[in-house]
Amino acid sequence: MAEEPRQISAEGAWDQCLDIIRDNVSDQSFTTWFAPLTAVSLENDGKTRKLTVKLPSRFYYEWLEEHYFSLLCKTVTNVLGDDGRLYYDIVINQQEADDVMQLPARPGPSHKPVVKVERQPFKDRPTRFKVNSNLNPAYTFDNFIEGDCNRLARSAGLAISRSPGETPFNPLLVYGGVGLGKTHLIHAIGNRVRGSSDSKNIVYASSERFTNQFVASIQNNKVRDFSAFYRSIDLLIIDDVQFFGGKEKTQEEFFHIFNDLHTLGKQIILSADRSPRDIQGIEERLLSRFKWGLTADLQPPELETRIAILNRKASGDGLEFSPEVIHFIAQHITNNIRELEGALIRLLAHTTLHEEEISASVAKVILRDLIQPTYSSLTIDQIQAVVCRYFNIDQDLVRAKTRKREVVQARQVGMYFSKQLTQHSLKTIGLHFGGRDHSTVIHANRSINNQLETDANFRSMLESLQQQFDLHSR
Ligand code: ADP
Ligand code: MG
Repeated sequence: MAEEPRQISAEGAWDQCLDIIRDNVSDQSFTTWFAPLTAVSLENDGKTRKLTVKLPSRFYYEWLEEHYFSLLCKTVTNVLGDDGRLYYDIVINQQEADDVMQLPARPGPSHKPVVKVERQPFKDRPTRFKVNSNLNPAYTFDNFIEGDCNRLARSAGLAISRSPGETPFNPLLVYGGVGLGKTHLIHAIGNRVRGSSDSKNIVYASSERFTNQFVASIQNNKVRDFSAFYRSIDLLIIDDVQFFGGKEKTQEEFFHIFNDLHTLGKQIILSADRSPRDIQGIEERLLSRFKWGLTADLQPPELETRIAILNRKASGDGLEFSPEVIHFIAQHITNNIRELEGALIRLLAHTTLHEEEISASVAKVILRDLIQPTYSSLTIDQIQAVVCRYFNIDQDLVRAKTRKREVVQARQVGMYFSKQLTQHSLKTIGLHFGGRDHSTVIHANRSINNQLETDANFRSMLESLQQQFDLHSR
């Protein structure tokens, strides 16, 4: 070692560590987990060099050890050398920040640190209201499938449900597009907390409901009751806060409730359909509160997660679909979990009606309108050609005036697939079929859909046509 780094201060060493860590974790993780830590001391006893940093709570200790153990070890070794050791001072009492306990970062197998002292914000608090939580028991962690798309939000949710009000995730704001699991996840947190403690007041409310209750309380001169009720909650869950946009009075009331609950160490969980910076019509001071804790997004699920969700739902409903069918759905419905479920329900309805085993090609026909178009290169003329070849008639005939039965059928099938597989308007499709009116195309679609529902032979005919188009689109 040429450069002797022993003169370095605790702050200097920790700053170097932070530089390394910053390069290895997301901005959000860095801000949440590492920025609040401060260096306490750097001691050298001849054998080891002991860097101590202060953690704001025991929760940090658990989280860091669980998620960043190896990063921290490597970082400290990198900065201090092989004899470097990391120690934590953990603040165990928020009121007296000097009250700390010390733990080594790398506990040997023989001594597992056990900390008995914990803050208990919920202890001894009388329950003043009998609260209806409005939690939907069907939404649990057990049936919430984990994936890259929801990992941060889910693990934060789990952490909160273990110690509500005591994690740095207060509030937790979960955001993401429609049908990605926001409502499910925030109910799951509530249900988990309820399962582990019956002394806590938990309330789930959509922001619409909150708004309506508030408005009603004004009309009935009961604002005091409203406000006292929400201040008695230990875990407040508000869904879809974007609906507060433009409702100034409600926002103001919520702002004060939020502040009071937060000060008391109560847990607040929020959801929104977009990131806080894109929410319109919400006062800056309230938006900035939303960002106090953790903001975690839900992304559309990856293929593997979609498959897992489908399998889980199917078996939950006592259904069995072949892996091909599951795969087919997962491959084509990609950005909304509610639509995945909708597809399963539709297949279920079909199975009960027709008592037939569902194959991937049947699924293709049944789910046609839910499936994202992958046939963009197919033209109306190509569709006509395939259909006419199948029915063995001259392509000119479907454009001609004739009303012969087999021609009418080919024409209708051609119109149906043109509607399903291309982006063309009804008018354009009509024009390609001999200048017919758009209402003729609507009629054709309706008639095909009727036959699809009632006639098994007809269904299998369309399936084999469908397979030909699939070949075309590859
Ligand atoms: P959002 O509130 O974001 O619109 P929901 O929570 O209502 O979405 O979710 C839509 C549907 O998808 C619900 O039936 C929910 O149970 C299901 N769902 C969402 N995410 C998951 C998941 N990770 N695992 C299993 N089911 C999920
Ligand atoms: Mg929702």
